[in-house]
Amino acid sequence: MHIQRSYLDETPALYLVPTPIGNLKDITYRSVEILQTVARIYAEDTRHSSGLLRHYGIDTPLRSLHEHNESARIEEIDNILAEGVEVALITDAGTPLISDPGGRLVDTLVARGRKVVALPGPTAFLPAIVASGLPPHPFLFFGFLPSKAGERRQRLRALSTLTYTLVFYEAPQRLHASLEAMKESFGERRVVIARELSKKYEEITRLRLSEVHDLPKLKGELVLLVEGASQDVSLERVDAVDHVQLLLEDGFSEKDAIKQAASARGVKKNEVYMAYQRYKTNLE
Ligand code: SAM
Repeated sequence: MHIQRSYLDETPALYLVPTPIGNLKDITYRSVEILQTVARIYAEDTRHSSGLLRHYGIDTPLRSLHEHNESARIEEIDNILAEGVEVALITDAGTPLISDPGGRLVDTLVARGRKVVALPGPTAFLPAIVASGLPPHPFLFFGFLPSKAGERRQRLRALSTLTYTLVFYEAPQRLHASLEAMKESFGERRVVIARELSKKYEEITRLRLSEVHDLPKLKGELVLLVEGASQDVSLERVDAVDHVQLLLEDGFSEKDAIKQAASARGVKKNEVYMAYQRYKTNLE
């Protein structure tokens, strides 16, 4: 066991500092103070971050840390901390590590017993959840779905029985394809698109998956939220016929419900089809 006492221990820290996701004023006093007092700031894109730092009169030396040099920077940062010097990590927007670089760095430093202090602050998914009108918790933050259609479908199928509000980051050019794939895997559900949060053109669109074809092309940054499954389809508790019926209640067609139940249960489609036909015949 190892207990980190973030503020009682004198040991130097790596600070994870959230930066604005749109509105420059969305940064805490404390974040500005930490960025002014650390010896060095590591930034995902130094050119991008220099504007923000200039705006707040922060002239701390900047160094890059992105996806492609993270491994090399880990040793560098570990050595600096060993010398008793504090550093901060920022990314282009929001909270580091949240669909952003920093994960390997934190993982390694924590494993080595270094102090990692995360400051509270901006991130896109949280305002999106609380403004959405969907149940705020439990929620599952997924981040970006895979861009390849097959992998995306596979991930969505795995999420389709969860009763949690599902939260995704998505690029506007992939939005429609993702929503179509969600319709196929989830059936009918409420969806919320929180776009350009904290910016002048902030917009929150609430629709149902069946209305996707009416959605115009959107631009900008967006968070996509989807209502969870209405019932927990625990495979141990429901047989194939009940499973099909639950999916029918969720708005699937009979054909899609059979396909979806078979896929989720890892059995042949025909097996579920036959079971469902027998059940229907018995009803008559
Ligand atoms: N680290 C960031 C955070 O804490 O939210 C996320 C970085 S990720 C590379 C960028 C994605 O976050 C965008 O593609 C979008 O899905 C979401 N995002 C960032 N800023 C946003 C905003 N102002 N409004 C809506 N979504 C935003």
